[in-house]
Amino acid sequence: MSFTESDERRALRSAAAELGRRYGHEYYLTQARNGGKLTELWREAGQLGFLGVNLPERYGGGGAGLYELAIVLEELAAAGCGLLMMVVSPAICGTIIARFGTDAQQQRWLPGLASGSAIMAFGITEPDAGSNSHRLATVAERDGDQWVLSGRKVFISGVDEADAVMIVGRTADARTGRLRPALFAVPTDATGFTFRPVEMELVSPEQQFLLFLDEVRLPADALVGEPDAGLMQLFAGLNPERIMASAMAIGTGRYALDKAVSYVRERTVWDVPIGAHQGIAHPLAQVKIELELARLMMQKAATLQDGIADGGAAQAAGEAANMAKYAAAEASVRAVDQAVQSLGGNGLTKEYGVAALLALSRTTRIAPVSREMILNFVAQNSLGLPKSY
Ligand SMILES: Cc1cc2nc3c(=O)[nH]c(=O)nc-3n(C[C@H](O)[C@H](O)[C@H](O)COP(=O)(O)OP(=O)(O)OC[C@H]3O[C@@H](n4cnc5c(N)ncnc54)[C@H](O)[C@@H]3O)c2cc1C
Repeated sequence: MSFTESDERRALRSAAAELGRRYGHEYYLTQARNGGKLTELWREAGQLGFLGVNLPERYGGGGAGLYELAIVLEELAAAGCGLLMMVVSPAICGTIIARFGTDAQQQRWLPGLASGSAIMAFGITEPDAGSNSHRLATVAERDGDQWVLSGRKVFISGVDEADAVMIVGRTADARTGRLRPALFAVPTDATGFTFRPVEMELVSPEQQFLLFLDEVRLPADALVGEPDAGLMQLFAGLNPERIMASAMAIGTGRYALDKAVSYVRERTVWDVPIGAHQGIAHPLAQVKIELELARLMMQKAATLQDGIADGGAAQAAGEAANMAKYAAAEASVRAVDQAVQSLGGNGLTKEYGVAALLALSRTTRIAPVSREMILNFVAQNSLGLPKSY
């Protein structure tokens, strides 16, 4: 791994940053506060090839990797207009379908996911399972050549914008009768599939939803990939999710830091700008260092993830993706909090819009996997400590 990005990656970074600057945080906030979506930005990012940069070229993607997709999201978020659905649609769903989907599923979904004309949400979290995915209770039963899905999901992002949701359900193993994970592409207009928004305190154009699957009947080919490979397929999507959540968090942190730095350079209440006081300058310098460190870990994770296709170790990629998400969330929370503090009263005004990032940055400590579950993972897998739960 090189610590200097290639010319191609730098060009992608500056093109994505340029697109982000044209929309910016004003646009994001206006849409969020008026119940709008980021449709124009999403569409333009799709036309520029940014949304499918990680997907195969034969389906209209860019043929690059998750590293490149993370560059796009980081730069959009750093401009104040991160696209949350990039974490889900091209990163989780696109990766899983590109690696494990049948030819027909790839033809059905990948061109749309790559251009952004189709959106697929991702539903794993359940009200009674939460962080414990062993407790998932959404069950898929075979009925002739159909699948019948029943269950509930919660906090699922962007279902109102999506054509389908990739649902993590469970099927009975014909030999043992035990339930094992399986993934299904469920169209949002399927009979028996309903959803309603969860009222959140987030300033965000994307909403979260409670889903009800009431004996949803699906054709056989709604099962993504192989029934025997469900768990492996699921993990293939979770590392990209963590890396993209890191990109969003780091970008958001960079946006907040930039806002704070330009404010404290100008604002003068004694004889010098407040940025000259070390009580203001040092915490911002710390935030800068922490964001850089988190970004380095994210880049390592993305590099390892992209190397899996060439035989790289999935376990190392998983460890790095978890560590990157932890570091990115912590750095992002600190960055936004310190930005609010640096702006004083203006940190809490609608005009400056920094406080609007508080809940958003806080989200990355909880989703897609909580800080505590990452610490559990590292304690058990990296340190070999016993499990307490
Ligand atoms: C804005 C937002 C968007 C989301 N989008 C999606 C989406 O698109 N798709 C989707 O499937 N899900 C989504 N989620 C759900 C998210 O992944 C979950 O909220 C998250 O995994 C935590 O689950 P939970 O909320 O049920 O918390 P719980 O599992 O109830 O945990 C509550 C607290 O207890 C801690 N805890 C639990 N178990 C342990 C343990 N063993 N050791 C130590 N601490 C523990 C947790 O770390 C957490 O702090 C989203 C959530 C949010 C907030």
